[in-house]
Amino acid sequence: MTNNQPRIGTLSVWAGEEDKNFWQRSTQVPVVHSVSFGYHDLDEWYDVAVGNEPGHIYGRNTNPTVDAFEDKVRQLEGAEAATSFSTGMAAVSNTLYTFLKPGDRVVSVKDTYGGTNKIFLEFLPQLQIDVALCDTTDHEAIEAQIQKGCDLLYLESPTNPTLKVVDLARLAAAGHETGAIVVVDNTFATPINSNPLQLGADLVLHSATKFLGGHADALGGVICGPADLVHKIYHYREINGATLHPMAAYLLLRGMKTLHLRVRQQNESALRIAQFLHEHPFVENVYYPGLPFHENHDIAARQMHGFGGVLSFMLRGGFPAVRAMLPRLRYAHAAANLGAVETVAAPPRTSSHVESSPEEREAMGIPESLIRYSVGIEETEDLIEDLQQALRATAAEIEAGAAEIDNRSAPATAAASTD
Ligand SMILES: *Cc1c(COP(=O)(O)O)cnc(C)c1O
Repeated sequence: MTNNQPRIGTLSVWAGEEDKNFWQRSTQVPVVHSVSFGYHDLDEWYDVAVGNEPGHIYGRNTNPTVDAFEDKVRQLEGAEAATSFSTGMAAVSNTLYTFLKPGDRVVSVKDTYGGTNKIFLEFLPQLQIDVALCDTTDHEAIEAQIQKGCDLLYLESPTNPTLKVVDLARLAAAGHETGAIVVVDNTFATPINSNPLQLGADLVLHSATKFLGGHADALGGVICGPADLVHKIYHYREINGATLHPMAAYLLLRGMKTLHLRVRQQNESALRIAQFLHEHPFVENVYYPGLPFHENHDIAARQMHGFGGVLSFMLRGGFPAVRAMLPRLRYAHAAANLGAVETVAAPPRTSSHVESSPEEREAMGIPESLIRYSVGIEETEDLIEDLQQALRATAAEIEAGAAEIDNRSAPATAAASTD
């Protein structure tokens, strides 16, 4: 037997599943569909209930299938402890509500996930919690806000949907100078591409719904970090009840066995697709941190092992072009999701930022002509050909539409001459 520390792809397969004592020696983690766990021995029951002995009492608190999922993510993130949630937003909200109280101050960035941004703008102010949202890539401005007082620094990298990358080591150090808890949403990068705890973050969280599960068939969330902090969050969640379902935990576990294979393929395809789109005349702008001219490419190259499977691009022709193009994509679900084995394409206005008003989206720098494109594990060439045909047809339709409007507004003689 080897004593070497397993590499991340081996952890994706085995972590959390090494225990050979599962039910009837099954090699796969069973889905334990049991709300409660029974004890004849009242002393043993008591010891488990108060946490002196390992074991399970009631499904809202813990469950063996859910435990295995938490342990897999914990090991991939190199953390001491992990706890899970029914959704990614439950991971975000439970973490914030565990630590924040009236009078506290949060520093974050404008480009957080749409739901997270709503908590900052709508729900935390109701509790007299002050929130400073900075321009995402203005590191000096973020540091200046941290110095004014910061109990919790909340970062996300790369961001959704414009793929900005923030310098996690630099900002975590700034946060710690004022004693802040530093939380990073690592959903877009995954532990394959980025390890925020190694860069100094205290807590790292995921919407497991996305890349971790990878098959768009289960919702879930998870947070990892030191045992004392994670236990506080666990306690909040067990009381508030946003528990991960054992069936979802099983689906996420199964999906995670191929995490490294999927993400490496998605990294490779996304870079090639971003280069293709960049050169296409109907594409106004491409956002992908792997492109050398992306505004945060240097930080991304330094702090990430791969640039991720999500990119976004702006079409010439505004929202009508988005409307015309999406149905033409053969190999992309037009849906509000990302990180799946299938390619998914969506405009932020109907997906990540549907909760935001057009004004809020504009303030966040999210153009209405943007398409977020989450690269699946299809063959790269098929995806590029698919984009090519959809762009060609859309450009033709938009130009024909523009010509028609020109004709309608032109004098009758000119219109007649085009017949
Ligand atoms: C989807 C997402 C969330 C929320 O996760 P749910 O599982 O949908 O609740 C949070 N952060 C990021 C970056 C996301 O993409």
